[in-house]
Amino acid sequence: MKKNLIIYPWLFALYPVLGLYSRNLTEILPSEAIRPLAISLGIVTLAYLLLVRAMGDRDRAAFLSAFLVFFYSSSELVYRLIEGYAFKGLSESFHRVLLVAVTPMFLFLASRMVWDKYMPQGRRKIAADYLNIVSIAMILFPIFNIGGFLVEAADDAPRPWSGYVGANESPQSLGGEDTPDIYYVILDGYGRADVLSSLYGFDNSPFLEGLKTRGFFIAEQSQSNYLRTSLSITSALNMEYINFTADLAGAESTNRLPMFELASNNRARRLLTEAGYRFVLIDSGSAFTRFYDADVFITPFRTTPNLFEMWFYSTTALGALYQPELSMTPALQEYLPVAGYATHRVFTLDALDQLSQTPDLDGPKFVFAHIIAPHPPFVLDSQGNPLSPDYPYVTGDGASFVSDKEYYKQGYIGQVEYLNKRILSAVDDILRKSKGPPVIIIQGDHGPGLLLMSGDRPDACLWERASILNAYYLPDGYDDLLYPAISPVNSFRTVFNAFFETSFDLLPDKTYYSLFDVPYNFLDITDKVRNPCGAE
Ligand SMILES: [Zn+2]
Repeated sequence: MKKNLIIYPWLFALYPVLGLYSRNLTEILPSEAIRPLAISLGIVTLAYLLLVRAMGDRDRAAFLSAFLVFFYSSSELVYRLIEGYAFKGLSESFHRVLLVAVTPMFLFLASRMVWDKYMPQGRRKIAADYLNIVSIAMILFPIFNIGGFLVEAADDAPRPWSGYVGANESPQSLGGEDTPDIYYVILDGYGRADVLSSLYGFDNSPFLEGLKTRGFFIAEQSQSNYLRTSLSITSALNMEYINFTADLAGAESTNRLPMFELASNNRARRLLTEAGYRFVLIDSGSAFTRFYDADVFITPFRTTPNLFEMWFYSTTALGALYQPELSMTPALQEYLPVAGYATHRVFTLDALDQLSQTPDLDGPKFVFAHIIAPHPPFVLDSQGNPLSPDYPYVTGDGASFVSDKEYYKQGYIGQVEYLNKRILSAVDDILRKSKGPPVIIIQGDHGPGLLLMSGDRPDACLWERASILNAYYLPDGYDDLLYPAISPVNSFRTVFNAFFETSFDLLPDKTYYSLFDVPYNFLDITDKVRNPCGAE
C-alpha cells in the first residue's frame, strides 16, 4: 500500500510560534524564537512516533498529534478569543474546561471506529493532501512577514551600534584608587515630585526627605532625554544622545533589534569592566535590559527562558496552570516562569530584595537593576500585597494602557508608595554593608503616562512624561558637581569625572520625542517640556 505524504503535523506545530514571532518582529531577536521552534517540533515528533506505535496507523497518528499539539500550543489564545468576543467576564478556569472538553473530542475523531467507517484509503489521501496544503498556506503568511522584515532590517546595522558611541570624543579610560562600587537603579516610569503632586495629588516629599537625610542629592528639575524606556536607558548607559541611530536605521525605521546590542554593550559598562569592575545585573524580566552576558546575572527563577518564550508559553495550555488559586503555580513558576502578573510580581519583588544582597559580592562592582515599577501593570498595592488586574497580561503604558485614568492614578501611586519603603531600606542596607562608600543613582527612565492615555503625540502635554525622579548618592561631598536639571545622559559623565579621574564634558540637557513604534524619528521638545501642563 502506498503511503500518504504527511507533513502537516510539523507545520501546524510551527505555526503558533511563527505567528507570535511575526506579530512582534521589531522587539524579538530571531535567535530567541529558535528554542521554542525546536521544542514544538520535538514535541510533535515525539507525539507522532508514540501514537504510531500505539495505534499502528500513520494517518490517524498524524491527525491526532497535529491537532493536539496545535491546540495545546494556542489554547490560552483560543480561550482569550472566546472570552474577548463572545463571553465577557468568563473565568480563567474556563480555559481548563476547554482543555478537558476538547481533548476527548480529538481522541474520538481519531478513533479507529470513526476512521474505519468514514475514512477509506482514498479519502485518507485526500484529507492528508488537503491538510498539507492548508498547513503550508498557514505558515507562508508569517514566513513572508518575517522574511520581509529581516531583509529590510539587514542593512540597519552595518556594524554593531555600540561601535558608533563616543565617535566625536577623544577616548578616555577610568583611573583612580579606591574607586567606589556603583549602583544604578532604574525605577521604570518614576515621575518627578511636582508631577506627582500636580497630576496625582500625591505628596512625595517624605520619600525625598528620606533620601536627603541619607545623603542624597535630588535633581529637582530633571527631565529624561527620551520618553521611551529603550532609548532612555540606552542613552544613559552610553553617556550620550543616540540620535545617530536615525542615520543608521533611517528615521522611519521600526527596527529596534540593533538597540539590544547598543544597550547591553554600553559605554559605562565597558569602561568599568576595563577598570576591573564586575558587571552585576539584577534581572527584572524586562527583555530590553536582560544582559545575559553580565559577569553576574541574578534572576529569581531556576531557569531563564527568554522573554519571547515566556510570552509564547503563556499562550499555550500552560497558561491554564498559572492561576492564583492553584497551589502548584509557584512551584511550576520556579522552573518555567511564563509571562503574566504573577511572574512580573516575583521579578519586581526579587529585584528589590537583591539590591540589599549585592553589597555582599566581593570586589569592585557595577550593579544595574531596571525595575518595572511604578510603571504599569499595577501588581502591588502600597503595602506590597499582590494585585491582579482583570485584563490579560500586558505591560503597556500611556496610549497603550488598557484601563481608565482613575485606576491608573490609584495603581501608580500604590506602587510608588510601596517602592519608596523598599528603596529606602535597600539604600540603608547598601550603605551599611558596603566596604567603602558607594555611588547610588536612583532614576526614572521617563515619567508616568497618565496624560499620554489621551493620545501619544508631539503636541500633547509631555511635561508629565519627561519629568523624572533623579537622585544621586555621591560620597565625599562631590555634590557640587550635580545641579537641579542634570539629566541621565550626564549621570555617568559626572560620576566618572568625580571618582575616576576623567574629564568628560557635560552635554546639554535635552529631551527628544519619538513614537514607540517609530523610535528613531526624533523631535527636540526640550523647551516645550519645561512648562507644567495637564493639571485640571
Ligand atoms: Zn520605561
